[in-house]
Amino acid sequence: MSTIFKKIIDREIPADIIYEDDLCLAFNDINPKAPVHVLVIPKKEIASTDDIADEDKELIGHLFTVIRDLARSLNLGDGYRVVANCGPHAGQEVPHLHYHILGGRRMTWPPG
Ligand code: AMP
Repeated sequence: MSTIFKKIIDREIPADIIYEDDLCLAFNDINPKAPVHVLVIPKKEIASTDDIADEDKELIGHLFTVIRDLARSLNLGDGYRVVANCGPHAGQEVPHLHYHILGGRRMTWPPG
């Protein structure tokens, strides 16, 4: 069964997409936890960080250069946080690898 993020990739459901290329998609989180809350996802169906294969190294590196460029274009020069929840203890809700870019306010640490 395809996840909600796969449905966004396939344009079966709408999303506020701010970036797309051959390998990935970025869109605004529907329930933002910060003034800027963007999700960056690979088009390849990878369930979580734990499911990344060795052959995905280049793809994961690409996602992070996209994250870097998006953070710059979103004026997050004061700093931002990149989060990947993995599995039930981290509260992962959608089983499709995604990186949260959170910014626009000061973050607290440690996270809850
Ligand atoms: P996680 O808890 O790390 O799995 O995060 C899943 C994120 O996906 C949450 O921040 C949700 O608000 C977000 N989300 C769920 N459905 C959608 C959607 N249709 N469009 C945009 N963001 C979504």
